Amino acid sequence: MMDKEKIVLQKAPKGTNDILPLQIDDWYYVEKVIKKVLQTYGYREIRTPAFENTELFVRGIGETTDIVNKEMFTFQDKKGRSLALRPEGTAPVVRAYLEHNLSRENMLVKLFYLGSMFRCEKPQSGRYRQFNQFGLEAIGSSDPLMDAEIIDASLHVYRELGLKNLSLVINSVGCRKCRPGYLQALKDYFKERRDRLCSDCRERYEKNPLRILDCKNPQCQMEIKNCPSIFDYLCEDCKEHFNKLKEYLDSIGIIYQVNPLLVRGLDYYTKTAFEISSGELGAQNAVGGGGRYDYLVEELGGNHTPAVGFAAGIERMIATMQKQGVGVPKWDGIQVFVAVTSSDDIMPAFKIISDLRKYDITAEMDFLNKSLKAQMRSANKMNVSYVVIVGQEELKEGKVMIKNMKNGEQEKVSLTKIYSYFK
Ligand code: ATP
Ligand code: MG
Repeated sequence: MMDKEKIVLQKAPKGTNDILPLQIDDWYYVEKVIKKVLQTYGYREIRTPAFENTELFVRGIGETTDIVNKEMFTFQDKKGRSLALRPEGTAPVVRAYLEHNLSRENMLVKLFYLGSMFRCEKPQSGRYRQFNQFGLEAIGSSDPLMDAEIIDASLHVYRELGLKNLSLVINSVGCRKCRPGYLQALKDYFKERRDRLCSDCRERYEKNPLRILDCKNPQCQMEIKNCPSIFDYLCEDCKEHFNKLKEYLDSIGIIYQVNPLLVRGLDYYTKTAFEISSGELGAQNAVGGGGRYDYLVEELGGNHTPAVGFAAGIERMIATMQKQGVGVPKWDGIQVFVAVTSSDDIMPAFKIISDLRKYDITAEMDFLNKSLKAQMRSANKMNVSYVVIVGQEELKEGKVMIKNMKNGEQEKVSLTKIYSYFK
């Protein structure tokens, strides 16, 4: 086979990852902790499709965002409808909230999700084209207490996982009343400086100057440093909301920094925006971010419904855990190996192993027609505690030989007693 063909057949698409058996314990652990912690806060899991109508994201995330502009994987179905692999989880959750009228039973709906997201970005460490997020959304409350709970729950997940040295940055991005004034101030400020901005930012200047603040280009960063602060433009309502949020965070001992330049990549954010990052990750250091999105439900055709949420990248969380040496519970491995002295004993051995597994005993046998000696080597390699040796002689007495691999002792055990022997 040609090398080129091998690359197509034996290499996953750019920016995607296999999660191998050696890594899976990390994922099980993270998923388990997320579910456990979020349920203690009363968030219930929702699973939405991996793809949606493209329009949902165009509307829900915003046409001027990088995600919609550059990063979406879109395709057409056979009838010519435009679909997109989901680049994020909030718009789909709100779509499901509206579709199933989830507010019918409760004015406040608290949901969480876990799943793959897709963005056609330049792959780098911590930045992939298919990656996994967990996220939580509280739909229905405008109270800053809700923002505080979302932040607390997010940090709680990280803490429970054993992550250290995380920093929380908060900001307010204003609302429909006060943001236009701030956008104008930004436009005035960047007007003279447009030439020194990157080409993306020159476009952002026209379409949505707030986005400039999120640019990672060092030269743009220089220009951004001294730009007007949103705090000089927030309306009373937004100011009050932000102050209350800070008080709630203080009251439960959550430490944060305020950064007036923090904006989120998505258009629908209002008031609170926040980001959690890890010192250990280098350039792609954000392990999660969130904020309030009071207009999204309306934007998707629902009634005015305030909401707040958070999303975190699981690959970056696991990378941080590894860098910090966080211990993760590992699979116990195979406990019992069922060996045969000759191929004539396969059938009874297969019955024994089938029963062992019914009793929740992790057991393995040989599928490669190996000699008894080679089977014992396999058992050793698997580091099993016991080997059940099935042979004609013992079977005649209704027994098998069980070898304790820790001390080498062997014992004949009646077929009917095998399970109690291991229990
Ligand atoms: P960034 O500034 O790193 O591009 P973002 O603002 O695009 O992040 P969000 O859309 O808020 O990120 O997504 C929440 C989290 O999902 C991020 O903080 C990050 O941990 C993770 N994330 C986002 N994009 C990727 C990606 N391409 N690969 C891996 N993780 C990602
Ligand atoms: Mg991004």
